[in-house]
Amino acid sequence: MDIKTNLAYIQENIRKACEKTNRDLSEITIIGVTKYVTIERTIEAMEAGVHHFGENRAEGLLEKYNHIDQPAKWHFIGTLQTRKVKDIIDKVEAIHSLDRESLAKQINNRANRVIDCFVQVNVSEEESKHGLAVADVIPFVELLAAYENIRVVGLMTMAPHVSDEEVLRKTFKDLAQLRDVIMTKNYAHAPCKYLSMGMSNDYEIAVEEGATHIRVGSKLVEE
Ligand SMILES: *Cc1c(COP(=O)(O)O)cnc(C)c1O
Repeated sequence: MDIKTNLAYIQENIRKACEKTNRDLSEITIIGVTKYVTIERTIEAMEAGVHHFGENRAEGLLEKYNHIDQPAKWHFIGTLQTRKVKDIIDKVEAIHSLDRESLAKQINNRANRVIDCFVQVNVSEEESKHGLAVADVIPFVELLAAYENIRVVGLMTMAPHVSDEEVLRKTFKDLAQLRDVIMTKNYAHAPCKYLSMGMSNDYEIAVEEGATHIRVGSKLVEE
């Protein structure tokens, strides 16, 4: 499928999910995850109207950033090694995978502006996943106040790889609830308005549960 067709289909599904839950379509940002595809295919996505892109490796992000002239917003969505922070820090719109203090320290030291970050939460507490356990998130957000170049704009999660809708919905609901608690605290460094959740197989459910940033790869860009 060409990307224009895929994008129209995804947008239509988002529109329906918004309608169902009385949400405003303009609250939702589609991040096209291009980690699987070439520069050419990424450019095709841009021309189809995708403005935000997600990469999960520093090398992948740099390769595309350096070879693509069109303006685009790059999101780092994968596990970030501290030694790679310096390579991507001045190129990203946001980092979606902040999950430890050593990484916060490195981002803070390498940045020469405030960096928008999502704290990654392992809601389902699967061993294989990165991210903080729910109970550790608020203490972590609180300690981030010491890092002047970090703004916590939201929370991010990856749902378990299952097809059971109730499990997925519960994961997204739990993340939204945690976000709500953090918002009531009115932390200056952590407005925490956003929810980065939902991928190719579960983005409609994520939107119904309040996602503001969905990260869609295979159903958007894969051939
Ligand atoms: C690969 C990836 C995605 C996109 O996954 P799809 O299922 O292909 O849509 C989203 N988020 C993260 C963190 C990823 O690594």
